[in-house]
Amino acid sequence: MPRPLSATIHLESMKHNLARARSCAPGANIWAVVKANAYGHGLERGLRGFADADGLALIETENAVRLRELGWTRPILLLEGIFDGSDVALLAEHGFNSTVHCIEQVKMLEYTRLSHPIDVHLKMNTGMNRLGFRPGEYAAAHARLRAIPGIRHITLMTHFANADELENERLSIREQVRRFQLGAAGLPGERSLSNSGGVLQQALLSEALSNDWVRPGIMLYGGTPGGPTAAEYKLRPTMTLASEIIGIQQLQAGDAVGYGSSFAAPGPMTVGVVACGYADGYPRHASHGTPVLVDGVRTTLIGRVSMDMMTVDLTPVANARVGSKVLLWGDGLPIDEVAASAGTIGYELMCALAARVRVREGALGQPA
Ligand SMILES: *Cc1c(COP(=O)(O)O)cnc(C)c1O
Repeated sequence: MPRPLSATIHLESMKHNLARARSCAPGANIWAVVKANAYGHGLERGLRGFADADGLALIETENAVRLRELGWTRPILLLEGIFDGSDVALLAEHGFNSTVHCIEQVKMLEYTRLSHPIDVHLKMNTGMNRLGFRPGEYAAAHARLRAIPGIRHITLMTHFANADELENERLSIREQVRRFQLGAAGLPGERSLSNSGGVLQQALLSEALSNDWVRPGIMLYGGTPGGPTAAEYKLRPTMTLASEIIGIQQLQAGDAVGYGSSFAAPGPMTVGVVACGYADGYPRHASHGTPVLVDGVRTTLIGRVSMDMMTVDLTPVANARVGSKVLLWGDGLPIDEVAASAGTIGYELMCALAARVRVREGALGQPA
């Protein structure tokens, strides 16, 4: 028997969530973001789950090449663009659409002859201050790209810092859109602004946020960037992490559990040991009280998460035994809720799923 821990990927949910993104941003083309191994789901599963997308977006050129090898013929967007002049040939050879966010990348394109025409995304820094040209430098960068033979379409792009909040007091979506419109005024080309947060807020921002292309990531994996819950947005979980109880301890008042003896039993209680730890990608910083389901009953994590195991309170779970099913996140327990208890976000939990965890595919509602 293999260790009872496994992650189940729900391809049907990926397809459903993509359809949700489409209905939130009607008329826009969708780049399904499959960076970070499709947010931990596996690149190849990303390709299958998002077979209806208009394009796939990711970071590394070698994974972009892999998508072509797997048979993806539609557009591929490199979200950070190229890292070296020698990558220009790859863009032309495989028809990759490259983000251009700095003058160094413009020069790489100017210095290398393109064997085939390519499309690019020109990124504007509208306040995130990570990648992109400032609004005042944007038109000049655009003009330089247009002068390069072999560059066909230039899509105008920016990225939101606080996409789950319309009115963040430091930098709102509205303010970023305002800066974008200023910097892009009069320039031809399609527009691409929204990540999941922007897509989910699209209805509220209506006209101001017109996108020709949107770039949802987390919502396609059944998580949210913040704000309302995934269920409220009618998104379905795409990754279920499940395991079993592999040991049980009966504690008396004052007995401590695990490393650091950080938890002590307030009275007699039953503790279950679960085959899942931080080396599997479960967050070590998950606190006492982080939700877990055992045999479908909601209970909580107690004590410190260790490398291969964690401990849960079995007091509320009648008939719990070695072999009882444990749901860590996913179908029946929102990943965002677990993440919040660990002081992180669903994105990080998905991406951190460790290579040693068995991954399989299955429908929602099936026993893991
Ligand atoms: C990761 C990323 C996205 C997707 O963001 P989500 O919050 O997961 O929707 C969109 N655009 C760019 C440039 C990104 O890097």
